[in-house]
This record gives sequence, C-alpha cells and structure tokens, in this order.
Amino acid sequence: MNKEVKLLREDGLRLDGRRYDELRPIKIEAGVLNRADGSAYLEWGSNKVLAAIYGPRELHPRHMQNSMKAIVRCKYSMASFSVPDRKRPGPDRRSTEISKVIGEALESVIFTEQFPRTVVDVFIEVFQADAGTRVAGLTAASVALADAGVPMKALITACAAGKVEDTVVLDLGKLEDNAGQADLPMAIIPTTGEIVLMQMDGHLTPAEFRKARDMAVNACYQIYEMQKDALKRRYAAE
Ligand code: UDP
Repeated sequence: MNKEVKLLREDGLRLDGRRYDELRPIKIEAGVLNRADGSAYLEWGSNKVLAAIYGPRELHPRHMQNSMKAIVRCKYSMASFSVPDRKRPGPDRRSTEISKVIGEALESVIFTEQFPRTVVDVFIEVFQADAGTRVAGLTAASVALADAGVPMKALITACAAGKVEDTVVLDLGKLEDNAGQADLPMAIIPTTGEIVLMQMDGHLTPAEFRKARDMAVNACYQIYEMQKDALKRRYAAE
C-alpha cells in the first residue's frame, strides 16, 4: 500500500466525491456495430469498452471443433492509447488471463450443447482504461451476446469492490486500485445469485471479504437493470 496517497477525505467521501458504496456512472448501448452479430458499447466512469459477438458459426480448422458443443472464444484487448503509459500492442499475460476468465464465465450461461462444432467469438476492445475493465468488458459482452440472440440461460453482471485505507469500498477507480490494499472483481448470474467469476488482488480479512462481496453483488443488481434497459431500448427502436 502506498501511504503517501490519501484516498479517503475528511468528509467521509472518496477522492472523486463518491460514497464508499457508490458506483461510477455507467452507460450501456446495445447493437452499435452493423457487421457483428451482436454488440454493446459501455462507459463505466472513464472506462470505454466495446464488445462484439460473431457466431455461433462453423469452426475452422475442423480438428478444433467439439462434436458435443460450441466453443466460446474470448479475446480481451487494450488499445495502446487506452492507458497513460502506452501499452505495447498485442496479447500479454494479463490480457490472456482476462480473456480466459471472461470466456469461462460467459460459457457458463450459453447453451453451447445446442450448437456442436461451432464457435462463438467474443471480442472485447478497451479504448480507455481506468481500472475495472474486466468487469466492464464482461458486463458489455453479456449484453452483446443477448443482442446477438445467442441462446443463454441468463445475463451475467460484473462489478468489483476492494479496500483502501482499511475501508471496504465499491468499484475502485485507477488511483484507488493502484494505491489501495485489495481489489475483488466478481461476476454473478443475477437471476440465480450464482458467482461465475471471482478474483482477488491484495489481502482482505474474512469479514472484509464478506463485506466487499456483498457490496459488489448488490451493485451487480443495479447494473443488471441497466443491462436490461439497454436491450429494451435497442429493440424498442426497431
Ligand atoms: N493498466 C495500465 N497498463 C496496463 C494494464 C493495466 O495502465 O498495461 C491500468 C488500467 O487502467 C487498468 C488498471 O490498470 O484498468 C487495472 O488493471 P487490472 O489488471 O487490475 O485490471 P482491471 O481492473 O482493468 O480489470
């Protein structure tokens, strides 16, 4: 922890003026790309993320096909200009890890057995990053999958909570993520409460963990309403 940076103010708010349990502003728009089967654009604080879905379509080369189910292939990438220090283009360990955990979470809700031998491609492009891009990307990808009409049992909603200055707070911004003590990105299936992604960076006591988990889950239900609203707006417009 970096003790030089003061993240909580005397008045009980955070540096950006948020309460401890307050989300950054979120905007979601579904169906923004003409040539993708489904898409969604999401702004979450200063994060700007686009998700595009192609498929289910026949997978080539054929030896990669699974005769029992569709393969879900996820590619998360961050633009070089998305962060203050230019990011080297192309895959790295971090984006490989994020692609894997997001892909597995999405696969858990897609009825893959209905589409053997196919692939569902999920592309997540981060144009501006300010901490929380994996939860933003997963939230957008889930809306994009629904927009594509891919049969799935439910939407997935993601949000992080964490700890700064020994205080559990919701949805860490970049400064809080860098100088804070822990980050707990999570994703749930809001209709069942099932957890489909949970990672932890840093340390939380069991009590802090429960508090952070509950904060993130409660926020997921707020974000879930925004996801449904984006889909309703998309189809009301047609
Ligand atoms: N970040 C960066 N350069 C990188 C990777 C990440 O500046 O090469 C920043 C970016 O703002 C990102 C934040 O660090 O959102 C936190 O990254 P983390 O790995 O915790 O993932 P995230 O919180 O975005 O899911």
